[in-house]
Amino acid sequence: MKISCMKYEHDLVAYVDGELPADRVARVERHVQACSSCSAVVAGLRQVNALPQPPLIEPSAEFDRMFWTKLAHVRQAQQEHRGLERWRSVAKAFFTRPAGLSLSAGLALGVFVVTLYLLRPPHAALPQQEVMVAADLDLYANLDVIENSEALEHFELIQMLDELEQDEQG
Ligand SMILES: [Zn+2]
Repeated sequence: MKISCMKYEHDLVAYVDGELPADRVARVERHVQACSSCSAVVAGLRQVNALPQPPLIEPSAEFDRMFWTKLAHVRQAQQEHRGLERWRSVAKAFFTRPAGLSLSAGLALGVFVVTLYLLRPPHAALPQQEVMVAADLDLYANLDVIENSEALEHFELIQMLDELEQDEQG
């Protein structure tokens, strides 16, 4: 295609389709008659236009419903896949070991962490019953003692020891 042809490039399709404004048709026709490459393009476009048009396909009445159902399934599958990927990346991060750490050491570390989790102490919140007992014993104001549930469990023992001490002193 020559440089002079480039300004006609877009007009040729509209010309063949009969959609080119009248004021530009004469100019394009003059050029096409004088230019072999553009006249070849026009001939080619006319051949394409002459081809039989493929029949329009009417979607079935069910198409709309089936399309949206299928789309919903695809979206759900994508979400499930994303969830799986998240877990996979967590597992990968967990089991990805620093260079030099053997696989068995990595696994041992994993088992150790899981064991720590399973053996974690029970919830640290003070049971309601112990708070009530502490209140009865006028120890409620002394949070240090209340928070030390170990000491509360042995409170009777401590009290006995106190009494023994007082007996000795008395
Ligand atoms: Zn040309």
